[in-house]
Amino acid sequence: MSDQVNFGDELVSREEKTRRVGEVFSSVARRYDIMNDLMSGGMHRLWKDRFVNRVKPRPGEDILDMAGGTGDVAFRMVRRGARVTVADINADMLEVGKERAEARGLTGLSWKVENAEALSFDDASFDAYTIVFGIRNVTDIPAALREAHRVLNRGGRFYCMEFSSTDWPGFDKLYEKWADTMIPRIGKLVADDEESYRYLVESIRRFPRPPVFKKMVSDAGFVRAAAEPMLGGLVTIHSGWKI
Ligand code: SAM
Repeated sequence: MSDQVNFGDELVSREEKTRRVGEVFSSVARRYDIMNDLMSGGMHRLWKDRFVNRVKPRPGEDILDMAGGTGDVAFRMVRRGARVTVADINADMLEVGKERAEARGLTGLSWKVENAEALSFDDASFDAYTIVFGIRNVTDIPAALREAHRVLNRGGRFYCMEFSSTDWPGFDKLYEKWADTMIPRIGKLVADDEESYRYLVESIRRFPRPPVFKKMVSDAGFVRAAAEPMLGGLVTIHSGWKI
């Protein structure tokens, strides 16, 4: 395994990548939610609704929302009666999430600092594992997928939503322009942090294409791995089952 990995477009050591991803999210934590709205034109809310409809959380289920950040996806799932553990490598993101949950009077949530690559949970602890806009930031993605498989019960569902570079003629150019110019600009204006938002754009560009990621999900032991593109392929919902 190569010792150098990409942090956006830069090559860095594995430890350095994990550390710098940590810095990015500590730096954006307080502005993360407003930035999501600005960068996606509010679309992230619809994507997350659609995602949770696919997951179909049920009352009494235990779900691990990995890289759960400030809790957006977890909130939607507890509202449907599931118990959700929000796990993230970044304590600052979780702190913002806890405050938001309290302000909304939500219960059924627990919060835990965890690295997706090496979870502290026992085997077969959850009915579903979700990870939204998180896995592209993980240094060792195959390790994270193996861990997802390990902590799921038999019959457990794996669901991941991630950006994907779109191939749609015309739309791809439009997206590239938006991503290269507007996102870092909004990052500078609103969060005074152009660098972090440039990293986010570069990390999206470098994330494996849906067929490649689908194979990674299968290789981790999941069956019926599927990739469902949304909105011209800008975002893809990946899924798989543990049997
Ligand atoms: N899922 C949330 C959402 O959609 O609003 C947050 C997504 S945010 C773009 C990505 C999150 O991944 C950050 O909170 C970051 O701390 C987390 N993350 C990055 N690397 C991680 C790792 N190795 N293990 C766990 N979380 C990680």
